This record gives sequence, structure tokens and C-alpha cells, in this order.
Amino acid sequence: MSTRSCPFCGKPVGPTLNHCPFCREAIPAAQKIRTPYMEQGRKYMRRGMLYALMAGVIYYFAGGYSGMKLPIPVPPEVNLYFSPLLFALGIGLVLYGFFLYIRG
Ligand SMILES: [Zn+2]
Repeated sequence: MSTRSCPFCGKPVGPTLNHCPFCREAIPAAQKIRTPYMEQGRKYMRRGMLYALMAGVIYYFAGGYSGMKLPIPVPPEVNLYFSPLLFALGIGLVLYGFFLYIRG
């Protein structure tokens, strides 16, 4: 998908080649090219999914769908504003992380 460059001569080589066609140096193929952006992206995606999940749980319980009586009354504003906001934030984080990840 993306081209690598030879660590010895800097010329672009295919991602599947083990030897550079220009300088014939062996290229460490097993070396996974994982950039800090990808790491960051994965972190954001994980956190975003957690937020979205949390929003779902809060929505579920605050909305009274669980059938359980909560010890403290939850104001309707929570499900009106807070849960959707948290959910949107989570989705946003996932998208942002995904963008970072594919951009590499
Ligand atoms: Zn080379």
C-alpha cells in the first residue's frame, strides 16, 4: 500500500522486497513499520469506544431502561445532553484515532 524507502540508500523500494534493488542491501522485512501516529491512533480509538460505551450505559440506567431503581434521582438533562454529548465525543475520538491510524 505505501512505499518504504531503503534504510541504506534511501531509494523507494516495494513493501514486500527483502533486498533493495538499488544497493542490494538486505532490508529487515519483519520490522513492522508502526509510527507513533498509529500508536496514538489506536489509543484514541480505544478511549473513544470506552466513552461511547459509557455513554450507552449511562443512557441505559439514567433512562430507567434497566428496571432498577437508582439510589439517586437522575435529572432528565443527563440523557438530554450529557449522554449524547459523551457518545458524540467517543465517536469523534474513534474517528480521529482512525484517521491518525490510517494516515500512519
Ligand atoms: Zn538501497
